[in-house]
Amino acid sequence: MTIIVQKFGGTSVADSEKILSAARRAVAAQQQGNQIVMVVSAMGKNTDMLVDLAGQIHSRPPAREMDMLLSTGEQVSVALMAMAIDSLGSQAVSLTGAQIGIKTDSSHTKARILSISTDRLHALLDAGNIVIAAGFQGIDEDFNITTLGRGGSDLTAVALAAVLGAEACEIYTDVTGVYTTDPRILPEARKVEQISYDEMLELASLGAGVLHSRSVEFAKRYNVPIHVRHSFSDQVGSLVVSDPESPNQAVGGAAVTKNEALVSVKGIPDCPGTSLAIFSGVAQEHIAMDMIIQNVGEDGKADISFTVLENDLPTTRDAIERALQELGSGHIEVGTGVAKVSVVGLGMADQIGVADRMFRTLANAGINILMITTSEIKISVLVEHEQAQEALRAIHAAFELEKPPEEASAGEMKQRGDSDALRIFTDLAGMEGLCVDGILLDNNQARITISHIPDEPGIAARTFEKVAGEGIFVDMIVQSYSTGGKADLSFTVPRDHLSKAIEVAQQLASEMDCGMVTSCPQVAKLSVSGIGLRSHTGVAIRIFQAMANAGINIEMVNTSEVRVNVVIAGGCGEEGLHCLQEAFSDVLMH
Ligand code: ASP
Ligand code: MG
Repeated sequence: MTIIVQKFGGTSVADSEKILSAARRAVAAQQQGNQIVMVVSAMGKNTDMLVDLAGQIHSRPPAREMDMLLSTGEQVSVALMAMAIDSLGSQAVSLTGAQIGIKTDSSHTKARILSISTDRLHALLDAGNIVIAAGFQGIDEDFNITTLGRGGSDLTAVALAAVLGAEACEIYTDVTGVYTTDPRILPEARKVEQISYDEMLELASLGAGVLHSRSVEFAKRYNVPIHVRHSFSDQVGSLVVSDPESPNQAVGGAAVTKNEALVSVKGIPDCPGTSLAIFSGVAQEHIAMDMIIQNVGEDGKADISFTVLENDLPTTRDAIERALQELGSGHIEVGTGVAKVSVVGLGMADQIGVADRMFRTLANAGINILMITTSEIKISVLVEHEQAQEALRAIHAAFELEKPPEEASAGEMKQRGDSDALRIFTDLAGMEGLCVDGILLDNNQARITISHIPDEPGIAARTFEKVAGEGIFVDMIVQSYSTGGKADLSFTVPRDHLSKAIEVAQQLASEMDCGMVTSCPQVAKLSVSGIGLRSHTGVAIRIFQAMANAGINIEMVNTSEVRVNVVIAGGCGEEGLHCLQEAFSDVLMH
């Protein structure tokens, strides 16, 4: 019999009426001949209330006791849900995470799932029960209750769907599905029929909060189709699956994050190990860095810039000051009041002209770009906070995200095969362990840098339109932050496009009154791709460490949820590849 997992979030079980309505949905699905597992969150704002209560008693409550406390929220809702099902005349059994056998590691308040036993669940389902599982919780080796991190019930649902080989994992929530961008920020945002795991991961990390990031990582790893839909409507929601909404769509969504701060570390030695010193200092404080830009050195000195959440700025600054003391040179500059605007799309990698369209759109709106980073499936720019909304609106319109795509991917809800189940049980690092599925070397690129470009709207647009106009394919673009009114713009191109690209760059530089054009005829791009690259912090650090140990200097960096790229000197490609294979040998899938 087919199994369906239905997850109901806090707002969907906020009162007795809503609990009964969720129960009716489950009973109806069962009567259609399915076995049903429900996963429920704590009622309404119950978890917040418990967090608040703990805070009134202790300024830093012990994490173990936090888990003990917070897990009670879900225990309340599963019991009530089982009663609701019983009142409708169907059979139900509620279970806590521990009773199911959701084994986790012991990192309280952010535990990771190691394994899940299914015997009990199958037995209860086969006996005709609707099984109601408490979301967000598990148990460690020593029988301590653990929780999976705020919003973790999504993860419980996806994980149960994976181990049970469920036909579908339905996430019932207070929105009607996944949107091209946050509809509260941009009313013209459109609900998508379908979105790929990778796009969803990028959007989730950019704060589009429909699904918990780790639940999407999990779904991708075990190929669980997720259906996000509204609790109180029969409308179809959005599918989160492997393929994007349309095969020929470059961009699937856009996002803005407004509470960013920019950190620029200037004048540090341009030699192996420098980035490691800076980044490991910040990472040790568990601060997530984004838009990392390492600029090619001038006079033996390099600049590193990145963004952090504004809240994390004081701690970041302290960590960097300490690192700079060790390095013996360099200073830090910070900028606040900035916002990151990103477009995300699986189709971006195969389509040219996406970056220049984005830059042109911003230029036409008179918006200055402070920083740029591009990766295979994401382009992010940093702009002034006041212009963020306008930037998002303009970009959303430029990529016609409000219109449904003409050719849709075939709404894939495919049957999951036995091979998926096999993979689950052979995964020794635990079900959520970091997993690297590829380490690649591209030895065929060259780099160009135009230094001291004017810090005004339209420069990037003009540059990349001209470059594209000459038929030059651009891979990675980074533009650094500038305090003195001048920024540097670097990009990589295929080696056989280099001489043409230099010509174009030189012409642009003189027209736009820039500084020098420098280039490197051969650079090597190394990429590490996989699942959990961001949520397992330290992947970038591992790369920097490996490079530093081998004495290899890193020239450019960019990161996304599914891939970290570094550009190094051309002669070091093979050696760099080898170092990375070694550094990730414990998590590399074959
Ligand atoms: N109740 C937990 C929270 O509010 C888990 C969840 O809702 O997913 O974070
Ligand atoms: Mg919740």
